[in-house]
Amino acid sequence: MSIKSIYGCMGCGTCVRACPTDVIRQRKDGKAYIAYPADCQICHLCRMYCPVDAITITPEKSIPVVVSWG
Ligand code: SF4
Ligand code: SF4
Repeated sequence: MSIKSIYGCMGCGTCVRACPTDVIRQRKDGKAYIAYPADCQICHLCRMYCPVDAITITPEKSIPVVVSWG
């Protein structure tokens, strides 16, 4: 997994707006969750913008990176 966990979220929605690939969504109570982990590009924007440092990212992608076709 690339974006690993969201713990201690206060529901500001910043990470949802920051993610360029729409990986993160918010529940009805505002808490962020990882909706589409395979789409994470490990850009770290969500982690950098989170005001309470709630997001943990690991270096590995959840699916292999395709470097060439054929
Ligand atoms: S690391 Fe980047 S692509 Fe991955 S969830 Fe965070 S903002 Fe989205
Ligand atoms: S930026 Fe942080 S506090 Fe705000 S919704 Fe995302 S994980 Fe929660």
